[in-house]
Amino acid sequence: MLPYFTDFYGNASSNHTFGKKAKDAIEKSRVQVSSLINCNNKEIIFTSGATESINLGIKGYVEANSDKGNHIITVKTEHKAVLATCEYLESKGYEVTYLDVDKNGLINLEELTNSITNRTLLICVMYVNNEIGVIQPIQEIGKIARENNISFLCDATQAVGKIVVDVEEDNIDMLCFSGHKLSGPKGVGVLYKRNNIILTPLIHGGGQENELRGGTYNTPLIVGLGKASELALSEFKSNTTTLLKKRNELKEYYETNNIGVVNFQEVVTAPHILSITLKDQEAEEFLMLKSKEFVASTGSACNAAIVEISHVLKALKILENKTIRISF
Ligand code: PLP
Repeated sequence: MLPYFTDFYGNASSNHTFGKKAKDAIEKSRVQVSSLINCNNKEIIFTSGATESINLGIKGYVEANSDKGNHIITVKTEHKAVLATCEYLESKGYEVTYLDVDKNGLINLEELTNSITNRTLLICVMYVNNEIGVIQPIQEIGKIARENNISFLCDATQAVGKIVVDVEEDNIDMLCFSGHKLSGPKGVGVLYKRNNIILTPLIHGGGQENELRGGTYNTPLIVGLGKASELALSEFKSNTTTLLKKRNELKEYYETNNIGVVNFQEVVTAPHILSITLKDQEAEEFLMLKSKEFVASTGSACNAAIVEISHVLKALKILENKTIRISF
């Protein structure tokens, strides 16, 4: 990233040689990112992060396709970036169905199918839940969406680089993630958009990103995200092995010392997130006592300022404040 702050600082949208150097680096990054999720590099839109990608994907899609319907289906345990966007759209007259989850945090595919109406435009389901690590049945959800001629947006912020994400095999039409969740820089992210998907831009301007996201490119961050994607792919096996080893060690530590139980053991979870229910201590109190050894959160880091049971745990009907979330 560093040379793109200091030496190759040209504006990537300029036609001169300084600009070209930056543009080439951005295009290289687009290829690196597309290899990680198995799409065409032309289907990658660089944004400021998953929140923006989600906003562009959802708002941009429903606005561009409003002649076809006004209904969105999502899940109660989605990240606030999805939920707040859907709530905003409800205030504008769109209808949103929020699916329940079972005790393992998973949706019921029959309930999903039954929620579809002839006004349904979009299904939004996250890949890996950021608080509890469970993996939704993405391929099947994509299949249901496709069979019903509905587009499928997947927030894969906690999945990309941690588990195999393949937009073709997974039947995904739009996919969102952030650079910093795969060891890239903060403030940069991706919206993958299948080439037949039409969006209305959120940010109008100089026509960058195929007219979908105006504004001067942040070349260093995009270069960082590209490199992080390349490394996530080439180091995938060793990273997964390390994460699983750490996770198993911690699981054993908590269980053999009778401190707490690891949740969601009946289902496959992502290797970097561990949800633990403490035996006889409040979550905040426990983390405070342990703060010299490690830091972790009780809810998702994004809402840590609000000390109340997170919306994810509430959806799972876990109402005691005893659950911690450890991520590596
Ligand atoms: N979606 C999920 C699942 C997340 O975990 C996060 C961040 O933690 C986001 C979306 C939002 O990402 P960002 O804050 O980078 O926009």
